[in-house]
Amino acid sequence: MTAKIERYLAENQVETPCLVVDLDVIAENYRTMNRLLPLARIFYAVKANPEPAVVAMLNGLGSSFDTASRGEIDLVLGQGASPDRVSFGNTIKKQRDIAYAYEKGVRLFAFDSEAELEKLAESAPGAKVFCRILMECGGAEWPLSRKFGCAPEMATDLLVRARDLGLEPYGISFHVGSQQTDIGQWDVAIGRAAAMFSAIAKANIDLKMVNIGGGFPAKYRANIRPVEAYCDGVMSAMQKHFGNAIPEIIIEPGRSMVGDAGVIQTEVVLISKKDYEEDKRWVYLDIGKFGGLAETMDEAIKYDIATDRDGGETAPVILAGPTCDSADILYEKTEYRLPVELKVGDKVKILATGAYTTSYSAVNFNGFAPLKAVCI
Ligand SMILES: *Cc1c(COP(=O)(O)O)cnc(C)c1O
Repeated sequence: MTAKIERYLAENQVETPCLVVDLDVIAENYRTMNRLLPLARIFYAVKANPEPAVVAMLNGLGSSFDTASRGEIDLVLGQGASPDRVSFGNTIKKQRDIAYAYEKGVRLFAFDSEAELEKLAESAPGAKVFCRILMECGGAEWPLSRKFGCAPEMATDLLVRARDLGLEPYGISFHVGSQQTDIGQWDVAIGRAAAMFSAIAKANIDLKMVNIGGGFPAKYRANIRPVEAYCDGVMSAMQKHFGNAIPEIIIEPGRSMVGDAGVIQTEVVLISKKDYEEDKRWVYLDIGKFGGLAETMDEAIKYDIATDRDGGETAPVILAGPTCDSADILYEKTEYRLPVELKVGDKVKILATGAYTTSYSAVNFNGFAPLKAVCI
């Protein structure tokens, strides 16, 4: 947690649950990535944290944006991004939304199927298109699985078809899975992309760009290697597979850009036991899976938790949210310990929650308001 967030929470009685975002951390993350990957263009993945203040600040720093819907396109254009800094990166788009984006000036689109390519040819004539290839996402704590991408052989054929349909076959993209800690996954993916560049050259198509997606991890409970290690890994893989013909590089960081910039302030609603013999307390917070902590699904993302009573004796807990849905348990299998002295009404901070929290919060499930955010 940053000193700025600590001070803000000490000086303001925020109504919980509330996400506090330190914009300086995001700016620093952006500058660091720009410095470490000077050959790459950064397209911030808006879904990670779509707060207008975050978008406006990144726009001011010169960032581009990876968007997935008409709503995200309106958001980034509304915050001043010019359409040449916007990519419509979702491979699943309505025809009318493609037309809308094109009319607004967006000229860079993702696809992974023939049907999507046909929509693009009709509603975004002449646009630059890139094909997403399948990745297994091994090692990722939040894998994106087989829902996206197609096999490289199919992608090669589709890029040739893109040209025949009057589009500009521009490049290859992939996503190695979110919260990916295995640097080797980028090597595998970049190797595949390079092989496709060669295969497509045989059809006289000169691809220009590799989009290495997102996936860089944020620091939760477990230690991770510094962002330098991931950027080095990416650049070594580019050199290894492309030699001195390195194409344009796009990177779409979401989690690694905003994750460590936020803290959720919550409150303990109830502490109870179900049985006289039970040794674990149930601790119910005023936020759960539906209030923004969706990534605790299958206990995938393990957030660090802090209380004002830290330092004293601790005991194991089961952590749960406040709604009347039994899926709304945060951690039951994963060991979490909280202070024995913890009381109802205490504040509990969930750390590194700047990514995928407000954007995942339900609008009004069980009458609980969606997660609020303040950007400072
Ligand atoms: C979600 C998403 C990202 C961001 O991924 P992170 O793992 O949060 O960095 C990047 N690109 C695409 C296409 C995405 O869908």
